[in-house]
Amino acid sequence: MKRGRVLAVLVGGVFCVAVISLYRMLELIQWAEPWRRSDAPAGQDLSRLQQKIDRLELLLRSNNRLVATLQDSMLQHNLLHTRRGVANSSSDSAPLGVRTIPGCLAAETTNDGAGGVQMLNVYDLLTFDNPDGGAWKQGFDISYHGNEWVEQPLELILVPHSHNDPGWLKTFDGYYLDQTRHILNNMVVKLNEDNRRKMIWAEISYFSKWWNDIDKQKRAMVKRLVEAGQLELVTGGWVMADEANSHYFALLDQLMEGHQWLQTHLGIKPNSGWAVDPFGHSPTMTYLLKGAGLSNMVIQRVHYAVKKHFAQQQTLEFLWRQSWDDSSHSDITCHMMPFYSYDVPHTCGPNPAVCCQFDFHRLPGGRVFCPWRIPPQPITEHNIKERALLLLDQYRQKSRLFRTPVLLVTLGDDFRYVESSEWDAQFNNYQKLFDYFQQHPELHIKARFGTLSDYFAALHRRLSASGTTLPTVQGDFFTYADRDDHYWSGYFTSRPFYKRLDRTLESTLRATEILFSLTLAEMRRFHGDGRLVADFPAHEHFQHLTAARRSLGLFQHHDAVTGTARDPVVVDYGTKLFHAILNLRQVLQSSAHWLILLDKNQYHHDQSKPFLQMDEVISAHDALPQKTPLMLSEEPRSLIVFNPTEQHRTSVISVVVDSLDARVVDGETGRPMACQISAVWSELSRVSAKAFQLSFIAELPPLALTIYHVTKAPSGSTPRARYTVHRHGKLVNVQSKHFQVSHLQGLEVNTSLVLSNKHLQLWSSTETGLLQKLRLQSGVVRQVQIQFVWYGTRTRRNQDKSGAYLFLPGEEGGQLYSFSEPPLVRVSRGPVFSDITSCFQHFTHTVRLFHLDGHAGKSLEISNMVDIRSESNRELVMRLISNVASGNRFYSDLNGFQMQQRRSLKKLPLQANFYPMTSASFLQDASSRLSLLSAQSQAVASLRPGELEVVLDRRLQQDDNRGLGQGVTDNKLTASLYNLLLEDRGGVAKEVGGASVEHLSMLAHLASLSLCHPPISMVAPSNSEVQKLRPFLPLGSSLPCDVHLLNLRTLEDAQETGSPAQEVALLLHRKGFDCSSATEPLPLCTWSVHEEVNLDDLFSPLRFRSVRRSGLTLLRDHDEPESDHRLTRLRPMDIAAFRVELD
Ligand SMILES: [Zn+2]
Repeated sequence: MKRGRVLAVLVGGVFCVAVISLYRMLELIQWAEPWRRSDAPAGQDLSRLQQKIDRLELLLRSNNRLVATLQDSMLQHNLLHTRRGVANSSSDSAPLGVRTIPGCLAAETTNDGAGGVQMLNVYDLLTFDNPDGGAWKQGFDISYHGNEWVEQPLELILVPHSHNDPGWLKTFDGYYLDQTRHILNNMVVKLNEDNRRKMIWAEISYFSKWWNDIDKQKRAMVKRLVEAGQLELVTGGWVMADEANSHYFALLDQLMEGHQWLQTHLGIKPNSGWAVDPFGHSPTMTYLLKGAGLSNMVIQRVHYAVKKHFAQQQTLEFLWRQSWDDSSHSDITCHMMPFYSYDVPHTCGPNPAVCCQFDFHRLPGGRVFCPWRIPPQPITEHNIKERALLLLDQYRQKSRLFRTPVLLVTLGDDFRYVESSEWDAQFNNYQKLFDYFQQHPELHIKARFGTLSDYFAALHRRLSASGTTLPTVQGDFFTYADRDDHYWSGYFTSRPFYKRLDRTLESTLRATEILFSLTLAEMRRFHGDGRLVADFPAHEHFQHLTAARRSLGLFQHHDAVTGTARDPVVVDYGTKLFHAILNLRQVLQSSAHWLILLDKNQYHHDQSKPFLQMDEVISAHDALPQKTPLMLSEEPRSLIVFNPTEQHRTSVISVVVDSLDARVVDGETGRPMACQISAVWSELSRVSAKAFQLSFIAELPPLALTIYHVTKAPSGSTPRARYTVHRHGKLVNVQSKHFQVSHLQGLEVNTSLVLSNKHLQLWSSTETGLLQKLRLQSGVVRQVQIQFVWYGTRTRRNQDKSGAYLFLPGEEGGQLYSFSEPPLVRVSRGPVFSDITSCFQHFTHTVRLFHLDGHAGKSLEISNMVDIRSESNRELVMRLISNVASGNRFYSDLNGFQMQQRRSLKKLPLQANFYPMTSASFLQDASSRLSLLSAQSQAVASLRPGELEVVLDRRLQQDDNRGLGQGVTDNKLTASLYNLLLEDRGGVAKEVGGASVEHLSMLAHLASLSLCHPPISMVAPSNSEVQKLRPFLPLGSSLPCDVHLLNLRTLEDAQETGSPAQEVALLLHRKGFDCSSATEPLPLCTWSVHEEVNLDDLFSPLRFRSVRRSGLTLLRDHDEPESDHRLTRLRPMDIAAFRVELD
């Protein structure tokens, strides 16, 4: 009964919001009445008025829809509670109701049927004992009879390649000048000499740079080579991306950038993926490749024990299936290279000492040699028989690991084929061997140079001819080990400062893409004839966007976001990220300026004096953002806040002001906003007398630019935060005449500090200020302790130590962070938020609670500021210790796209139990789920039941022998940001055994969205009353809760290179979400049971002139016919891409 009432009030509330937004729209129209502008011709005014009325009608319709769906939601909600009631009242009735909540996905076991491989089960099965396998050290002896190829000859395809890192030991430009351009120049010459020669190329960042340098004639030759199938562009991404730290937005964006380039300049679309160097592999990448139209892929860096197992089972070639997909929809054919490396010694067969003799770049007298001490010999008439048979033996052994007699062997290494002599050495010697094979049919081998597409075409031919099927594999290939206990879990955190900067650029890019696309559409509509505003630098802005896409793309390279490049290269990447952010801000500023101007004729672009300024300044690539103090007076300052999310949100916006009292009102309605003034701490216990933090609660419609007016207020009129500052229970003297600083009171002295809001209560240690437990509104209390822990590295001589790639902790394991002097603890309490800050020597840690009624008040914000520059060979970890009975299981995300179950295994060393976390991780039992959502990538582990730990920073003095040649000692003051969410599962959670697939809850999705896409604040000059501003509200209502607007990305004009087209890539991601957590209050968005969504409805009152569904990288070949009805199928977990024109 009570619940019903709450719901009714809620629905009523939402209805009010709808009505208010309608009212605001009406008001806007009045404000925009054309008679205010005397110079506009009457006809134009009328047509604009007509447009406004049209949009109003649309808005009305969408509001009706909102109310209708809300009724739907209420029904669903009641249903859930009824089910829950049943489950509670009767112990033997199973809680079957979870599936009935529309849109949500119940936890599911994914143990596959016949022939399916589940990676979690493989991990349970393997012993990880690493026995010596003989010639193939990590494998086993391979035998054959010799008659296996009599009926069907061995079909060898040798694929020449050169692995070009876009930055590692040298910068991108450094490698390009010294090596890459020579490789590509020679490629044109050498492939032209003999049409049997082939080559593959992956990195479009390099290829496009080289293309700009070559003349027409050479370009024509390249096109001919591509058409003839001699040169294949594989994957077609801007880089060969890291798959652990990269967020799926950036993974897709760099793939799109590469594919779009290939379409424009070569008119091709890639067919095969090639990822031989990323340190572990994620199914998110395969999802994107499949969605971009690729059918096949090759991977290489997989745990040696997994490779051996796959080789024994003949499952090195498989159909990689998404864990959550119960169809074959997402399957892609994957070839896993069996041996240690992608170099020549580890690709011809199991014995590197033999294979090295067939790397003709290592002929005696050259710069590289064979470490197995048997050098290659040039192929001559005299030795050809012996050489051919020796090589054939390796091919035959390798072939026994696969289900068909087609064999893929690669021929290349890092930055190979620089000199023309190397081309001759490899191609001429191999051609002699191939010719010999051809002259000797009794050897039953057909050998040729080929590309990946040649290989996969042959493979699929053989598979279908013989009726052989490939097994399906579900799961991922983390955490990678290349030998012994050398697990590559260090790079999940290395250079965390730049991992964080990467995500700052990512969210800035997405926000700018969306706002820029909306601006161009508005401009075209404004003129009515499709023209843009003359003074608006659309071309220049598009150049900035393109450069930013490419800088973000470059940073997804597997030595960039991973933190595994040399120091000067890291600075080069950092500088590129930094400049990209600065340039995007210019685009944001002028786009927002135009959109919010009431009288568009006042628009004037002056880059040296932009109308809007960011409220935050980043001064260098290695500096954290700083707020610029806002000078207040009685004259209102306009603060413009952009909400880059597709959801209406309630956010706390903070600015630094020069006044102790300030008033914030909604620029449209004049409604005052709830405010709080907090201290700005210039030192640990010193309050700034000049600067103060003003925070207010903002209501931000989806994708809207909202205007607030900030003025100086009468003294004492703005609520101020109250403080206690203590160390070891004793009051610390704080010099502040403006803020009330009091003693600890009552129980606080000896027991705990307590903060609470409407939804939860938290207890923290008085001594350290660190969190101890949480209580939810439901009354559920959970222990959630925060600790900090150090890891060191191995200390004995000759022992391998941690470095940029590897995590090799000392035997003592994690050591609790200890301190001789307890931290200074600052507690602040205010009407908008309250927080507890603990200032330790190496980090400042803050837990903040927002006093918000909506769902945004349900999670805790945790932030750390870490500085470990005084340490050596240490890693700092933040650990959560809860009494959630999670056993050895936890969940971490893959690239922010999906959740993956993890099992902490005792048979593995500590470092093997660390996994990448891009944006989320959770622990759960039947009654609670504890989710940690993060705004940056880092390593995560759950070493004991109920525990979750993340590695914050690492400082390591030595190289870890993977080629980098240095440690990681360029640490900086580094920020990290999280949301912690404890949810009541109300006992309805179905306990699922085995390899279950789980999703984030709806609340966790919304919290993560807000965390990763913070509002962007801009400030107008104080004399801005000369330019009347109005808010910009492109959407009538929020998108459904589970539909994420991944991007709205303006495409390049096909006719005019470097200019924006009218066409925009619309990317939507329908999220899968968990059903077991009760979501109260309901978010102000809706969701639907149906797999079909109507684009016109979703984006109303925006209108699309044309909509074509396309592949994920928007290649024209993938365009589906234009649809009139805007219904489109969007299944949970799917990303869909559309080529649209905004009206
Ligand atoms: Zn590489």
